[in-house]
Parts: sequence; C-alpha cells; structure tokens
Amino acid sequence: MSGRILVVDDIATNRLILQAKLSSAYFEVLLAENGEQALDIATNEMPDMVLLDVMMPGIDGYAVCSRLKRNPDTAHIPVIMITAANEQSERVRGFQAGADDFLNKPINDMTLFTRVRNLLRVKIMFDELKMRESTTQELGLTELLDMNSLKNQSGSVMIAPKNQEQGIGWLKSMKSHLPYEVFASYGERNALNDAKLRVPDAFVVNQSLDGGGDGLRLVSMLSANPETRRSAIILVVDDGRIETASKGLELGASDYIFAPSDSNEMMARLTSQMRRKKYSDLLRSNVQDSLRMAVIDPLTGLYNRRYAMQHMEKIADRSVETQLPYAVMMMDLDRFKSVNDTYGHAAGDEVLKEFARRLQENLRGVDLVARFGGEEFMVVMPDTNETEAGFAAERLRKSVDARTFHLPDGQKLDVTVSIGVAFGVGHNPAVPALLEQADKALYDSKSNGRNRVCYFLADAA
Ligand code: GH3
Ligand code: MG
Ligand code: MG
Repeated sequence: MSGRILVVDDIATNRLILQAKLSSAYFEVLLAENGEQALDIATNEMPDMVLLDVMMPGIDGYAVCSRLKRNPDTAHIPVIMITAANEQSERVRGFQAGADDFLNKPINDMTLFTRVRNLLRVKIMFDELKMRESTTQELGLTELLDMNSLKNQSGSVMIAPKNQEQGIGWLKSMKSHLPYEVFASYGERNALNDAKLRVPDAFVVNQSLDGGGDGLRLVSMLSANPETRRSAIILVVDDGRIETASKGLELGASDYIFAPSDSNEMMARLTSQMRRKKYSDLLRSNVQDSLRMAVIDPLTGLYNRRYAMQHMEKIADRSVETQLPYAVMMMDLDRFKSVNDTYGHAAGDEVLKEFARRLQENLRGVDLVARFGGEEFMVVMPDTNETEAGFAAERLRKSVDARTFHLPDGQKLDVTVSIGVAFGVGHNPAVPALLEQADKALYDSKSNGRNRVCYFLADAA
C-alpha cells in the first residue's frame, strides 16, 4: 500500500526521522515546518494522510486539525496527531478537533505502520465513495458532507466484554459520557447472534470474551458478515502486544485500544469511529441516491430512457443465445396536450402516474417498462412471440381505455393510448433500428385513428 503523507513538525530532526521511516516503506513524503505551511500543502497537494505534531509555535496542531476538518475539500484526509507520551488530555482535545488517530513520542515503528496502513485503507474506501458520489456534490450537497455536521448525531454501540465486571464498567462510562445507545452481549456466540438481530453502528470487542470466547474471531466474523460489516469495530487488546492489535486490524477491526485503558481514550476513539461510520453511511446513501436518480424517472418511478436503452442491449444479447424473439412496444398517450390544456399540468402528471401503474399491473416481472420521455413509454418483453405480444398490447390498451382515470380533486377523465409493436431476434435488427420500427408502427396507430395497436411487420415493409 503506498500513499502520500504530509509530515508536519516544527523540529527538523523529527521531520527527517519520520521522512526516513516512511520513505523506507515506499510512502511519498511531503514536509511542512509549521501550521500555515501544513494548511497550504494540504489544500494544494491533497495528501492521503497528515502526521501532525501537536506542539508547534504559531498555529498549533489542534487548530490545524480543526481547520482541515472544517474544510469540505480536506475533511476526508485522515489526521494522525503526534502527542507527548500518554498525555490523555491531549488526545481528548485532539479527537475533539477531529483527529482520526494518535501516536506517542517516541514513535514506535510497528505502531506507526499499523496506524498509517489502517487509516490509508479507510481513506481508499472514502476516495472511492467520494468519486462515485461526485454527481451528488454537483447537485450542491457538499454541505452535507461536512464532517462537523455529523458530530452530534446519535447511534448505537454494542459491547462484548470479557466479563460482567468489565461490562458494567464500560456501560457506565459510555452511558454517562456519550449520546449513544449502548448494550452489552456476553460470550462469542451471543454477541454474534445479538449483532445480527440489532445491528449497531459500532462494536467494542474485548480480545478475550466471556465463557472463553475469542474476540479476534468475533471481529473477523463481524467484519465478514454482510449485515454487520459496515459497523465500526474497536478491539480492546488485553495481552499488551502490538502484534495482536495489528492482527485485529487485518481481520477487520477499525481501531484498537490497549487494556486497561483510560476511559477518556475509549470515549474519544469511539466518538471518532462513530463519526467515521456516519460519514461513510452518508457517502454511501448519497451514492445510492445518485445511482437511483441516474436510472429512474422521478415522476412515475419507471426506468428512464437511458437505462432502458442499455437494458435493451442486454435483452438482445440474451436473445442471441436463446434465439427466441423479443417484443418492443412504443406507446404514446392520445391527445395528451388537451388533458393538460383542460385540467392543468398537475392533473396531466397524475394521469401519467396512473398510466404507469396500469402498465406495471398488466405486465410480467421480466418485462421492462420505461418512460421514454414526455407522455411516451416503452415496454420490452423478452422471450415473446407475435401472438403473446399481441395479447399483451391489447390488454394494455384496454386497461387504459376501459377504466376512467380519477384525479385527486375528484374529477374524472377518459384517456386512451396508441401502441406500436416490433420484434427482434438477437441483434436483428439492431436496437436503434428496432426502436425506429416500433415508432413507425406507433405512427400508424396514430394515423389510423388512435386508441389502437399496430405492428411493424418486416415482410410487409
Ligand atoms: P397525440 O395523440 O398525437 O400524441 O397528441 P398529443 O397531444 O398527445 O401529442 P403532443 O406530442 O402534441 O403533446 C404531448 C403533450 O404532452 C405536450 C406536453 O405538454 C405534454 N407533456 C409532456 N411531458 C409531460 C409531463 O411530464 N407532464 C405533463 N403534465 N404533461 C407533459
Ligand atoms: Mg401523445
Ligand atoms: Mg407525443
């Protein structure tokens, strides 16, 4: 794993030592000797991570960190703060400033690389999500992604302690310091079952579990399970070995703490993990929304033209294999302009929605229904011959013609639709040509009096 790391320290020797260590592990290193420079380099160079000394003249590490986290462009860059040995108050202040992790001076190599690699992994995931999410950003939702807006959100935490005594201690301090719902589960098997019943945002898992259970195995199962793998996991290491911590991260933990731990550190790390979890949930749901927006017509909930065209190519590919024909219907509401003119545009929208519902009611699950634009719709029916398509098209036409449309304000109106049908086998004809044929058939329906189904028949052409 490689990456670009910005090292910020006012003391030249410290910078050079870190630079040497990181370069030897093939990281690219950028250097800054004060807070101003750090902010400049971070915004211009977009490093993958910042290693930040706390004590510096001028703008200190806390201030640099809060400024990076307040800026939506740099908020996602992980920051590791370098603090004096075991100074808990510094850590708590650092987490409040938005720091993602801490290293103590003097820096231990194994700890350094464990922390750096862990955060880089998270960063890679965020980058991926952010990239897919860029469409949403263009829609002006950048504000939402400000990490600071996530600070006060609630959430739930499940703890898996080694015994009652540890559990009660954790519950007590978490419940009095954090805004989260906290619940305990004792033993490996119980924890796994409880986690699936009620998926928390974060787990705190002790290395040894009640009843002789193995915390590392629990971590690995939680991070592999589809229901729980998006939750944060903090491993509490009770054998004092950095190798155990490192193994835990490899198995899927998102962070670790050595036991016995200062309760402030536990609270701070948990807060930071929750913040990160919320941030990735948000990115993910924005990605899902924008994927949805890209393929779904918002008025009717049907697929849009773009999706339909792409999907038709797949149906054609499949038809190459099966050698079964597929049918395409183009349909257009009759005299729809006059619906708008008489009842208003909002009423027109209601008619389009009701029409879409009737289409879906009268088709199979495998049929593709799409709004092609305006009051024009398309249906593609895989594995469908001329007789079957004829029945379906008539059924659709009748479903519109036979039942009056009711508007929300109580008014009633009659609507009809014209339909044109064409057939393809494999890529014969190609998708665009097939659509043209269906369009031609639709035009025939319109010019023959509307409210009817016409077919494009290759031998008649
Ligand atoms: P024809 O029988 O020949 O299809 O006549 P028509 O009036 O349906 O055809 P035309 O294409 O002239 O008019 C289509 C109308 O559909 C015009 C447009 O305002 C309306 N329309 C298109 N999209 C929407 C929409 O999303 N909502 C509403 N309410 N009306 C729409
Ligand atoms: Mg029309
Ligand atoms: Mg039209």
